[in-house]
Amino acid sequence: MTVKKIFEAFQKIDCCTFATIDDGYPETRIAHFLVQDEEGIYFMTMNTKPFYRQLKKTGKLSVCGLYAKTQIQGETDKGYVFEPGYFIRVTGDVREVSIEEIKAKNNPDFRYCIEDNARYPAMTAFVLYRGRGEIYDYDFDLEKRDHKLERERFSFGGMEFEKPGLFITDKCIGCGKCTKTCSFDAIVKAGDSYQINGRRCDECGNCAVHCPVGAVRHKGS
Ligand code: SF4
Ligand code: SF4
Repeated sequence: MTVKKIFEAFQKIDCCTFATIDDGYPETRIAHFLVQDEEGIYFMTMNTKPFYRQLKKTGKLSVCGLYAKTQIQGETDKGYVFEPGYFIRVTGDVREVSIEEIKAKNNPDFRYCIEDNARYPAMTAFVLYRGRGEIYDYDFDLEKRDHKLERERFSFGGMEFEKPGLFITDKCIGCGKCTKTCSFDAIVKAGDSYQINGRRCDECGNCAVHCPVGAVRHKGS
C-alpha cells in the first residue's frame, strides 16, 4: 500500500485518535493528517502543547480511526450490528518539519500548513516518515461481500510488519473442526491439512480453542 493510499484512508475519516507516550503512559487526543508527499504524512500542532513536547521527546506516534460510523447500529441474536466500514491504524517515527522546510517544498498541497502558521505562529509541522499499520475492512453482516473481513497490513520508510492471523502447524490431523467454528470464513483445506488465510482472520481464537490437538498457534504462542 502506498503512503498516498494510507493518507487517503485517514483523510476520508478526517479526525482520528493520535497517541503518544508521556512519562510511561499513553496519552491520546483528536487530530488529523493534513497532507502527504514522498517523505511521509504530515500533521500540525502548537509548540506550546503537551502533544508537541511528547512528540519531540519520544519521536513516536500511533494514530487510529474508524470509517464511517463509530456507533453500534443495533443488535440481533447473532450479535451487534455494524455498518460496513474500516478501521485504520499506523505506528511509527516522526520528526518536526520547520515552516521554512515546508515553504521550500514549493508544493501547493502544503498551503494550509503555511496559512495556519501565519495565523498561529506557534503552529509547527511534523512528518510521520516511517511506519507500519493496517486497514481492517469489515462487513460483519455480509452486506457487500461473502466474508466479513479483509485486512491489509502495510509499512513504509523501511519499517517492517508482521503478517496478520493465526496459523496451523503440522500437528494438524485434518479433522476440520476449526472450519466450523470460524465465522470469518478464513480457514481453507490444503491437501490433508488446513490453512488460515491471514487477510480474513480476526484472530478471535475460536479455532485454537476447539482444535483437539493444539495445532492452531498465534504469533505469541
Ligand atoms: S481443528 Fe485442528 S486438527 Fe482439526 S483441521 Fe483444524 S487445525 Fe487441523
Ligand atoms: S482465529 Fe478466528 S477468525 Fe481466525 S481462523 Fe480462527 S476462528 Fe477464524
